Amino acid sequence: MTETDTARYDLVLVGAGIMSATLAALVTELDPRLRVRVVERLPAVAQESSNPWNNAGTGHSALCELNYTPRQADGGISTVKALAISEQFQRSREFWSSLIQRHRPGMDPSGFIHSVPHMSFVLDDDGFLARRHQALSQHPLFSPMQYSQDHARIAEWAPLLMDGRDPHARVAATFAHMGTDVDFGALTRQLFGVAQARGVEVSLGMTVTGLRRQHDHWEVEFGSTGGGRAQAVLADRVFVGAGGGALRLLQKSGIPEARDYGGFPISGHFLRADAPAITSRHGVKVYGQAAIGAPPMSVPHLDARVIDGTRHLMFGPYAGFSPKFLKTGSWLDLPSSVKPYNVLPMLGVAKDNVPLEKYLVSELFRSSASQFEALQRFYPSADPTQWTKIVAGQRVQVIKRRGRTGVLQFGTEVVSSADGRIAGLLGASPGASTAVAIMLKVIRLCFADRLDAWQTELARLIPSSQASLADDPDAARRSLEWTTGVLGLSR
Ligand SMILES: Cc1cc2nc3c(=O)[nH]c(=O)nc-3n(C[C@H](O)[C@H](O)[C@H](O)COP(=O)(O)OP(=O)(O)OC[C@H]3O[C@@H](n4cnc5c(N)ncnc54)[C@H](O)[C@@H]3O)c2cc1C
Repeated sequence: MTETDTARYDLVLVGAGIMSATLAALVTELDPRLRVRVVERLPAVAQESSNPWNNAGTGHSALCELNYTPRQADGGISTVKALAISEQFQRSREFWSSLIQRHRPGMDPSGFIHSVPHMSFVLDDDGFLARRHQALSQHPLFSPMQYSQDHARIAEWAPLLMDGRDPHARVAATFAHMGTDVDFGALTRQLFGVAQARGVEVSLGMTVTGLRRQHDHWEVEFGSTGGGRAQAVLADRVFVGAGGGALRLLQKSGIPEARDYGGFPISGHFLRADAPAITSRHGVKVYGQAAIGAPPMSVPHLDARVIDGTRHLMFGPYAGFSPKFLKTGSWLDLPSSVKPYNVLPMLGVAKDNVPLEKYLVSELFRSSASQFEALQRFYPSADPTQWTKIVAGQRVQVIKRRGRTGVLQFGTEVVSSADGRIAGLLGASPGASTAVAIMLKVIRLCFADRLDAWQTELARLIPSSQASLADDPDAARRSLEWTTGVLGLSR
């Protein structure tokens, strides 16, 4: 039996990860009178993908991720995606900077973002990295990036990469000092702190079990995660920021737009090292190239991390398969998401992605020794006794209907009802770094009637929301200069 609370909210957010935290802070900054409630199934915020040990903490700005600059048929390099992602990350930096200027000490950049240079590192390069460097460094968002094939120079940037390496090996690297490491868990907590100071209510340990449309509003049903009496509140708008749990909830809502989607979970793990003897010798994030058949988010990288003020190293992610949609999810997540309306797209994806399936199966059965060799390609003298395996967050890749079949997408997808009263986020890449750009899209879909009134405040909070940094180098320079200063990053 459900007890309906008389409480009615302008917005109910399902899930307390970085996406809901960003939306809660953003809308209450735009209109502090909004009544907002957050319902989270776990006992604390940011315990799933947004937890710093469940993701790699890269502030994705396309400085080092080679898959954002694909080769073109004529041998050239496409920079379109890299510019778009860099611009989106810059919007996040602007929003965080505005909040810091308004809400210090509650918003404290030293608690969530650190300068950690970004490197790309390629063995036996055929000239791709030099061409990529040439293409990107024209733009101020990338211009201080350096390129080298010289062992001594690369060793200055990242000593561990060259320790014990064959002195005749053909290597190439780029180095961008303006890269960042972000603790998205700490950021989530700070953003909720700002939102709660504005009156946002956060209910922890409560699982949302039902979403029912009632005339011009939604009834959101939830109960204690361990079980117990269900209760419900009314919401003018709902954002399903439930990470891997979003697909099942959107399906439960019954909106026809959710019928175009399925989900394919990819699990993973990282190797982690904490010994100061090695963490003190690696202060960069180094991205390599993906193995053949590997999904783009399985590109190996050796990351310096700063979590709770302490330096660590993480390497991975190693992809795998589990039918769970959340790290703390259920083995039934995948089977129960298959419905008569999405079974054909899901079967189509299974038929069309045999190399990916083979890759995931081979990863599942790969020995620890062979996995460690992947790390040794980056760090030849790595010692297995200094590394431990940790389970990473779960990703649910989007399967989208296309005609009678489906396609597997590696990006994020905002799914919303035609009237904008409910929206949810599927997918995980490029992820937390671009949370602000994704939530701006949610605002455009769900608060279209208030956009005109919010325009001036939005321009104050996120100046680049009104411009294109990719097309306006002066605006890009101004944005970098301002946010580098406020976030306390290296120049
Ligand atoms: C291995 C890995 C590496 C990554 N690396 C990076 C990176 O380097 N840089 C980057 O920018 N991004 C990265 N990402 C992506 C990033 O972590 C995610 O995009 C981001 O954390 C998603 O945030 P979220 O708020 O949507 O989901 P989550 O943080 O997963 O939060 C969803 C919340 O919803 C709750 N929930 C679910 N169902 C319910 C329900 N029914 N009722 C109530 N609550 C519910 C969950 O408990 C959870 O707390 C990575 C992800 C993974 C998995």
